[in-house]
Amino acid sequence: MISPSPAPAIDWGALVVQPAISGTPARGVRRFAGQTIVCELQDLAERTVRDHAATAPRLEVGGLLIGDVYTAGSGFHVDVSGALPARRAISGMLHLRFGVAAWLDLTRERHLRKRERVVGWYHTHPGIGVFLSATDRNLHGAFFCGLPWYVALVFDPAGPAGPAGDELGVFAQDDGALGQLAAVARADGPLAGQAGQERST
Ligand SMILES: [Zn+2]
Repeated sequence: MISPSPAPAIDWGALVVQPAISGTPARGVRRFAGQTIVCELQDLAERTVRDHAATAPRLEVGGLLIGDVYTAGSGFHVDVSGALPARRAISGMLHLRFGVAAWLDLTRERHLRKRERVVGWYHTHPGIGVFLSATDRNLHGAFFCGLPWYVALVFDPAGPAGPAGDELGVFAQDDGALGQLAAVARADGPLAGQAGQERST
């Protein structure tokens, strides 16, 4: 019988429960919502992801999302304020691997940004759409299953931009299942539609 190898011990930062932010998001913030998780993506974080994607438009790239987490009723409000690109991750057209060098870089960066905690991870899907593959789900399960508020952001730089935000999706362990949060609103734009159908590969 093969037992799963344990995830490496990485200090992601402990959760300090704080009151939820209420009201409408500030300008430049994109909001995603599920049953128990609300995620606000600040403009700086989104721009960092987009800039990272632009450095390798045909390859998958990724990194960590940092910010803060607040309690909101029986769920969590995840505020994504920044992103830490894994510059030395091993990228391919349909895969991404965070090797030792990438983790070391991220751990170093993480210590420079002590005020913010790790709230999840992101990666790109150039030209293949926004979804979590089986590999992505395994990675999320291995590294980000310890706390329910970790989010996974997927960005397809070739995807359709626009108010529905179909080129960018946020996934979380929402109400017990790992699924895509609905794109709800962008503070400086019109209300967006619901999230697309989930896909699997
Ligand atoms: Zn993926």
